[in-house]
Amino acid sequence: MTFPPYRSRYLPAMTLRQIRALPDKAWAPVILATGAIEQHGPHLPVAVDALMGQVWLARALARLPAGASCYVAPPVTIGKSNEHTGFPGTLMISRETLRQHILAVARQVHAWGFRSLAVINTHGGNVPVIVPTLREIRAALGMRAGLLQARQADGISAQEATFGIHAGEVETSWILAAAERLTDMSKAECEYPAKLDDPGEVRPVAAPALVAWASRDVSLSGIMGDAAAATAEKGERWIERGSADLAEAIMEVCRIGKAGQP
Ligand SMILES: [Zn+2]
Repeated sequence: MTFPPYRSRYLPAMTLRQIRALPDKAWAPVILATGAIEQHGPHLPVAVDALMGQVWLARALARLPAGASCYVAPPVTIGKSNEHTGFPGTLMISRETLRQHILAVARQVHAWGFRSLAVINTHGGNVPVIVPTLREIRAALGMRAGLLQARQADGISAQEATFGIHAGEVETSWILAAAERLTDMSKAECEYPAKLDDPGEVRPVAAPALVAWASRDVSLSGIMGDAAAATAEKGERWIERGSADLAEAIMEVCRIGKAGQP
């Protein structure tokens, strides 16, 4: 089996001569997956976020028309996960290390001739670092830099949509669809950090005032959501829909880049 499945677009699999000769560097985005290795409850592997980056890449890139211009940088698998300290299995880097890592990738691919960077992020805790860093890349290097995003999962309850924020129905369904043998559904449970009609004192989302929470404050199991409601069928449907969104977003970045050419 070829690994990764998008090897023809994977920059580390190319020789320096191949990279030098790429004809579309002025508009083709370099895609960087940013994930995390952190506790995901008793039923999912700690690599969920890092693994999902690979699933999105493989599935979205497989949908692109042949010859579509885009390339892939080596992923950032460890993220800013200080909200999950106190559980075994969480690895993390600091905000500053994550920022410097993304900046370093941008600076170097810019030096090779690339002018567009697109991030597929699978860990919410990275977002407050990634967004200002992409702006820095735009300001300092003049590169196009943006986040590729897919629609939220459809057909979930209001309770899950609001408080199913970690290792719940959606993430568990994704992993059941993508890597079932890494799951243990006998340990999947429903644990919400708050109820819609009774949010309690610590509200990780939808709080009237922002609360700096750690998952150990709001979850005993590490799950925040209804993991027991997950199925492989739902996961497959959400991955299909999400990867179609991401493929469309990649083509849009290509179109914008190409249109900006002299
Ligand atoms: Zn996750």
